[in-house]
Amino acid sequence: MIYLDHAAATPVSEKVLEAMKPYFSDEFFNPSAAYLPAKKVAHDYEKAKGVIAHAIGAKASDLVISAGATEANNLAFTAILDGQISHSAPRPAVPSARAAGAKSRAAALRNAPSQDICPVLYLATEHDSVRCVAEQFGGTAISVLPNGLIDLEDLKAKITDDTELISVSLANNELGTIQPLAEIAAIVREVKLDRMKRGIKKQLLLHSDASQALNLLDINVARLGVDLLTLNAAKVYGPKGVGALYVSHDAKLKPLTVGGGQENGLRSGTENVPGVIGFAKAVELAKEHLNGNRKKYATWRKILIKELQGCELINKKHSLDNFIVICYNKIDAERLVFLLEEKGVYVATGAACAASKGVRSHALKAIGLSDEQIAGSLRLTLGETNTEEQIHEAAQIINTVLEQEQNRLIS
Ligand code: PLP
Repeated sequence: MIYLDHAAATPVSEKVLEAMKPYFSDEFFNPSAAYLPAKKVAHDYEKAKGVIAHAIGAKASDLVISAGATEANNLAFTAILDGQISHSAPRPAVPSARAAGAKSRAAALRNAPSQDICPVLYLATEHDSVRCVAEQFGGTAISVLPNGLIDLEDLKAKITDDTELISVSLANNELGTIQPLAEIAAIVREVKLDRMKRGIKKQLLLHSDASQALNLLDINVARLGVDLLTLNAAKVYGPKGVGALYVSHDAKLKPLTVGGGQENGLRSGTENVPGVIGFAKAVELAKEHLNGNRKKYATWRKILIKELQGCELINKKHSLDNFIVICYNKIDAERLVFLLEEKGVYVATGAACAASKGVRSHALKAIGLSDEQIAGSLRLTLGETNTEEQIHEAAQIINTVLEQEQNRLIS
């Protein structure tokens, strides 16, 4: 097997699995329990949160652990609901957490501002877990340029006095495009200053989904200037269904789940201790290998670009080193995916979820590709399961399959 779909899923690395194992059976205690072994588990959990937080220049208390990036992205948008709570407040006692439970998610959404006010701006190429929740709040899409980068002029034009939250991923999941978050944060700061001068008190927060970036970029929340940042263990050789939301002191959120008051009341439910221990180990390893991996993937990316025949490279610039998006003229990429699978090469057309729903990728559309180009596009994402030998082999197999497909179409 040559797996070239690391943006969709990464295998849990052996070291991560080893770190997680004791917490399934030996150290299984509920961190909220009062006896000593449980307190040790609570301590290990907090320590692991500290490792994840440290990797992005934050503290353990700045993180809300979630069941993946989808939940973290959804949670970020509660910042614009009325009656939010501060994540940094002391963990509420169980009775008050239960009282908070009276306000259900449905009730929270009923408090959402009316559609014509539009408190949300989001990048047109965002993952569906951002796009769908932004649309629930009547959000407006910010355009991207043909190279996939945010159109900063469009952003400036769309910010109004009603805007409360701007969501722009650090790196896109279909194109790998790295967005200029620090530049966006500078624009946000200017708007905030102007509002202050005019006596407007409305909040303006910047959220970024860094699910795809954590593996390949050195992330620091202060340097990026974000108020909210989503992380995803499943994309860094950690377990699936584990994520985190960094929450700055300026952002006040509302819980999506209520109950026992865990995660400072923002994410009730018994902590996923093995998941978070694994996430921390995965983050540690990602940091350790960041520079080496970037160099390696950049080299392999060049090899693929050179050796793949008859295609156009879509993500020419500003991309993560492990993303190669190509487009074949008059070829059905979905057929290529199946043919390649028969030869043991696993690739994606557009985003994995968009492809499985049989819909055209909104991200490829947003950068101006025609339906025909989208239908002929493949996403190859490199990762730790690959070797340089595999990269040459994959290029050769893809070229052969393409040639067969072209011959089939001619005959
Ligand atoms: N955000 C981005 C950029 C992603 O790539 C993904 C997963 O593909 C998600 C969010 C959703 O992650 P999960 O399905 O783990 O919740």
